[in-house]
Amino acid sequence: MADIVIDRVVKEFGSFRALQEVSLTVNDGEFVALLGPSGCGKTTLLRIIAGLETQSAGRVVIGGQDVSTLAPRKRGLAMVFQNYAVFPHMTVFENVAFGLRMQKTPQAEVKRKVERAAALLHIESYLDRYPAKLSGGQRQRVAVARALAVEPAVLLMDEPLSNLDALLRLEMRTELKAVLREAGTTTIYVTHDQTEAMGLADRIAVMYGGKIEQIGAPLEIYATPATRFVGGFIGSPPMNFIKVQCSHGIARIGDATLPCPTGQNLELGLRGEDASLGPNGSGIPFDVRVVEPMGSHLLLTGAIDGQLARIVAPPTAKVNAGERVGLTVDPARMTWIDGTTGRALA
Ligand code: ATP
Repeated sequence: MADIVIDRVVKEFGSFRALQEVSLTVNDGEFVALLGPSGCGKTTLLRIIAGLETQSAGRVVIGGQDVSTLAPRKRGLAMVFQNYAVFPHMTVFENVAFGLRMQKTPQAEVKRKVERAAALLHIESYLDRYPAKLSGGQRQRVAVARALAVEPAVLLMDEPLSNLDALLRLEMRTELKAVLREAGTTTIYVTHDQTEAMGLADRIAVMYGGKIEQIGAPLEIYATPATRFVGGFIGSPPMNFIKVQCSHGIARIGDATLPCPTGQNLELGLRGEDASLGPNGSGIPFDVRVVEPMGSHLLLTGAIDGQLARIVAPPTAKVNAGERVGLTVDPARMTWIDGTTGRALA
């Protein structure tokens, strides 16, 4: 079993608390993405799990063993970090073979496993080259291939696809997902790219300010964000937040009335794709300022009750900038946020 338990981990750099009692369990064979904006503590947490950084408090347990004080190489994991250190004096083949050589794998097996990892990362044609002759994206793929070649039980990755162009990034993402699932590798993957996290992960831990804001399956986090931060961070366009007055269970926006929960200082969290254009302009009034045709949809930017909102409409919808349209929303798709705490109401 290669489950990972992060138990109340704290990291302080001087007087700055980069991680505040973070707890997280990653099940054997599971793929968890750590997602969050720059500086939220993702890399620090990953480095602590790897043993490259020492926590100020708390424990890391891998496969039932407390590894909190073990050296990185004794933790039984493979890692790919942002700076994708490849060895400049070794060919790509030897770079990918490195971990296998350390494990004293027989030569025929080394060859087979290197070729398999190289094929997966599309670097077969560079196997005889030295890293200095490769682009940043190619070097990054060598680093990923080296980690995969040893077929690790636990794999830690920090933005491993960040240097690839959009198309290759998408292709590699799909390959990675398939191969790690097949191998049953327990994976923790750091990214600030929500599309990548949504596409790859079984569960996403959304981090903010050194804490995990929410952890859950991608669609769960998307549909039921626990906080305003999560709703605004996940999804493109981000969730809209509209301040509304609610009295006796009814909120009024223009002529429209919506059921609302009891509470003060409420905000309606509304996904742009959960609103549809109502017949004859009925529904929540939305003043359209800009219409952007995105191909698969129209992105409408405007205002609801004077507050910025972005709505997704079908590509053929007849909407013009400057118009007021009406929006229909299914109450079951609304998120209500307590404007004071920023937390969603259950
Ligand atoms: P990014 O996506 O930009 O890499 P991140 O979420 O991975 O961001 P971390 O690198 O974990 O963020 O950093 C978390 C916080 O800890 C940041 O505010 C950073 O400035 C701080 N920090 C990280 N390493 C150190 C260090 N060695 N000394 C002091 N502060 C540090």
